[in-house]
Amino acid sequence: MQNLTILGATGSIGASTLKVVSENPSAFNIYALVGGKNVTKMAELCAAWQPQFAVLNDEADAKRLKALLVSGSKTQVLSGPQAMCDVSSASDVDMVMAAIVGAAGLLPTLAAVKAGKRVLLANKEALVMSGQLFIDAVREHNASLLPVDSEHNAIFQCLPTDIQTNLGHCQLADSGINHILLTGSGGPFRYTDIAELASKTPAQAIAHPNWSMGPKISVDSATMMNKGLEFIEARWLFNTSKDQLKVIIHPQSVIHSMVQYNDGSVLAQMGQPDMATPIAYSMSYPDRIPAGVAPLDFTKVGELTFLEPDYTRYPCLALAMEACFEGQHATTAINAANEIAVEAFLSEKIRFTEISSVNERVMSKVCASNEFKQLDNLETILEVDRMARSYAQEIVRSY
Ligand code: NDP
Repeated sequence: MQNLTILGATGSIGASTLKVVSENPSAFNIYALVGGKNVTKMAELCAAWQPQFAVLNDEADAKRLKALLVSGSKTQVLSGPQAMCDVSSASDVDMVMAAIVGAAGLLPTLAAVKAGKRVLLANKEALVMSGQLFIDAVREHNASLLPVDSEHNAIFQCLPTDIQTNLGHCQLADSGINHILLTGSGGPFRYTDIAELASKTPAQAIAHPNWSMGPKISVDSATMMNKGLEFIEARWLFNTSKDQLKVIIHPQSVIHSMVQYNDGSVLAQMGQPDMATPIAYSMSYPDRIPAGVAPLDFTKVGELTFLEPDYTRYPCLALAMEACFEGQHATTAINAANEIAVEAFLSEKIRFTEISSVNERVMSKVCASNEFKQLDNLETILEVDRMARSYAQEIVRSY
């Protein structure tokens, strides 16, 4: 029985993780559930799963949650970032699902890494923000890192064991690997006239054609910023050079990514677009467990097609790829800017096409300064994150 803490339990990945747990009730025990603000959802989860701890972001919400729990509930309710770190690093915990959205996920995820846990990484923003520092902490604290993002999980599945067990420090060429091919669907606006993008609404942007996800990542999929963040995530996880990493549009989302070897072989992982599959694999690796996902029926799949990304349609993707090899200051800044820009778009303060302008302006400003070129500790990373957010907010207000 593995004790599990779920960061982001009230979200979409949280729900898929609990689905995998319910498929395998004798293998996992829920130790702690962590959420942000959704008190009602957390109360339902506590009633269903009886975790030892439930943690919400602020104290007032935690009080409301306590009031909703039935008397005699064994769940202790806590609040705040420190409590999230505590339930991620507690000695009773075996594995931590890191699925808080955005930069808020960094500290509890790092707490799990520093406590040497098995860390199931869905929160790509943590790696985008802290790259080398995160990867070094995994090695230093003997944590095991399992990618949950469907693309990175697919790549992981197509790699030899010595690379799987040495993420962040592996040498792809030594294992005969030429390229990692990161696939992406292109989102809901793949075929939209570029001139019409400016008038797209939040409801249209979050209606992803293949995957059901939270609002932030859905907007990121429409701009392909998500693929850009994944590009940065892949660079750190698989220690790639610029030339080893390629993005390909694959509208059907049947292939979840591929690895190209020097003998001409290409290994691909395929499946339904259901996050329960990569989540189950990250929880059971190196074994496999049922995920409650229907098998892929190839007679119904039809055509699989592939195309080059069009960077005029997806300027956020181009920016993130540029930031990736520019340095930590650039990836931290673009991640922070993007969170502010997406939030502003979702609350209808800026247009869809202005998301990339905000990101571009913040990144240029941070890259133009020499002050932040060496980001090798958490304090300076968090300082750049704060500065980029405040500049992005200023830009948003000016639109
Ligand atoms: P959701 O928006 O569905 O869920 C986000 C979760 O984060 C919620 O539980 C939310 O709590 C919690 N949260 C937000 N802010 C805070 C905070 N300050 N403190 C604590 N918890 C907080 O997002 P997803 O589940 O879709 O995505 C989660 C992460 O996984 C993201 O980083 C995303 O990029 C990544 N990911 C998601 C995939 C997917 O298919 N959904 C695929 C691959 C990666 P509450 O709702 O209670 O406020």
